[in-house]
Amino acid sequence: MARDRDLTLAGLSDAPQVQALVIGGGINGISVFRELALQGLRVLLIDRGDFCGACSSAPSRMIHGGLRYLENGEFALVRESLAERDALLRNAPHMVFPLATTVPIRKRFSGLLNGAINFVGLKGRPAERGSLAIRAGLTLYDLYTRSRRALPGSRFRGKAETHRLWPGLQPELRFSATYYDAWISHPERLGMELIADSLSANEDAMVLNHAEVGREADGTLTLTDHLTGATLPIRPEIIVNATGAWVDQTNLRLFAASGDQPARFVGGTKGSHLILDHPELHAALSGHMIYFENVDGRVCILFPYLGRVLIGSTDIRVDEPGEVRCEDAEVDYILKSLANVFPGITVRPEQIVYRFAGVRPLPRSDKAFTGRISRDHATRNLGGDPPVLCMIGGKWTTFRAFGEQCADMTLEVLGRLRTVDTRDRPIGGGKGFPGNEAGVRDLVGDLARSFGVDMDRAAHAVSHYGTRAGEILRICREAGDDEPLEGGTAYTVAELRHLIRTEHVGGLDDLLLRRTSLAITGALSMAMIERASDLLAGELKWSTAQADAAKRAFLDLLKTRHGLDAETLQNRNAKGNGECGSVARHA
Ligand SMILES: Cc1cc2nc3c(=O)[nH]c(=O)nc-3n(C[C@H](O)[C@H](O)[C@H](O)COP(=O)(O)OP(=O)(O)OC[C@H]3O[C@@H](n4cnc5c(N)ncnc54)[C@H](O)[C@@H]3O)c2cc1C
Repeated sequence: MARDRDLTLAGLSDAPQVQALVIGGGINGISVFRELALQGLRVLLIDRGDFCGACSSAPSRMIHGGLRYLENGEFALVRESLAERDALLRNAPHMVFPLATTVPIRKRFSGLLNGAINFVGLKGRPAERGSLAIRAGLTLYDLYTRSRRALPGSRFRGKAETHRLWPGLQPELRFSATYYDAWISHPERLGMELIADSLSANEDAMVLNHAEVGREADGTLTLTDHLTGATLPIRPEIIVNATGAWVDQTNLRLFAASGDQPARFVGGTKGSHLILDHPELHAALSGHMIYFENVDGRVCILFPYLGRVLIGSTDIRVDEPGEVRCEDAEVDYILKSLANVFPGITVRPEQIVYRFAGVRPLPRSDKAFTGRISRDHATRNLGGDPPVLCMIGGKWTTFRAFGEQCADMTLEVLGRLRTVDTRDRPIGGGKGFPGNEAGVRDLVGDLARSFGVDMDRAAHAVSHYGTRAGEILRICREAGDDEPLEGGTAYTVAELRHLIRTEHVGGLDDLLLRRTSLAITGALSMAMIERASDLLAGELKWSTAQADAAKRAFLDLLKTRHGLDAETLQNRNAKGNGECGSVARHA
């Protein structure tokens, strides 16, 4: 990492001119960066924190059309999202998988008027969705995707079959509907793969996390490297503001010197999730996502995720995005929603192995029911010198389309033509990935034999790196210390070192929360943190004091934002909590 970063900073110091500067390295900023890099531009992507370190690491991990957006009348968005979902199933088959999704239904007629009410501009929460409303929505879903046939169509079940398949669901259910969407196993890793692809396609493309750009009083722009404190001038021909929930704050800074007051575009809502280590609930799901309505009309989800259960989410307006966390009241809300749908299942506090929260960067809206706020996206040209394009809204699912549209506006301003299209472009280890389960099993078996590792390790490599798994296993073998980081995990010391060196890791949270799935699967222990901290200190040349401070800050972050205290982490040393779901496809 250090070498790449030093080279980038030295290159910028020698030549501060870039054709495009993308501010904000969430999935939308990464997407527009990839588009521009592939067109051959000298483009720089920066994030003041880590790549995919904010909202983009906090989604429900669904890659979906957005069934409920139909009742908001957002037909074009659903159609675009379904096309992008299907493209991701093709282009990132190592990380994006089909997800059978079942909707439990109590009534036949209710909810039919939701769409109509919204069309005439009435606000408020939707009525409970009945079977006919859901059938209408699923018919449209099926129609939009019929020609591609990427996933099976929807089907309805009566009471008896529903309860036979999901005996734990609430007894008063009268129907269920099952349709297919998709889920993503490691969104933050897919973000890193998009960055790696862009950098290898264009040597003039550059990225810097932990870096920020400020506007001086005389209008010039200065880049600050937060890892060293160094500053240097930067001269972009155009700026893309892709700072998500912080878009308005970033505009204020960019236009401060001009005296202009840019319009406000974003009104965020916070959403939180829990990860449960709950084998009984995992089994009760029978491999499906349960997509259900809570008593307040909000749609909630729970599904098997990397051997655990992911459940969420909340939807709470926030005035300032700041650093959000899943509050205890949200934990209560989520657990009550679970009790509503699976009344016989209880969750003990220690079964909550991770919590996370993020702020959805939604278009500004005065809608009273937050679920009604559009999940659509748009790019606005705010003008200025250099001109600023501003990305508003968006979801994970539609990152490619949003990035493409914003890149087209950027190219137009720069007077350039698009030369490369990304719709059918495989991402990272999705290139050449087997198209079926048998092919994946063969790949895992071949790797286990070739590298003399056990099947779990080979499966772990495939699920995290796709067709690049062999390359990673080779690098690890050659490193000489390819031994487990700590008991119960397939991650090795050599693997973590490789990630530190090649994936722009600036701190413990980058490594343990986003480059790896150790934290989210509830495997992370104090012993692992200590081992990773030693590794990072060696690679990043930290002093003992720096390493201690970094560890303290990380433990504080785990406690305040992810509900993990030191005692829990210590207990996991002894327990060897294991890294679940190394074989993502069989989660
Ligand atoms: C609870 C929840 C559930 C969701 N579920 C789904 C889902 O299942 N499927 C789906 O498709 N979508 C989902 N989404 C939406 C999706 O996660 C977001 O739309 C997407 O991640 C937004 O990406 P972004 O790049 O616009 O913003 P972010 O990921 O927030 O990125 C913005 C980046 O800008 C950086 N930044 C801010 N200010 C500055 C500055 N001044 N200088 C430099 N950098 C700066 C931040 O550090 C941040 O990394 C969900 C969102 C939430 C919160």
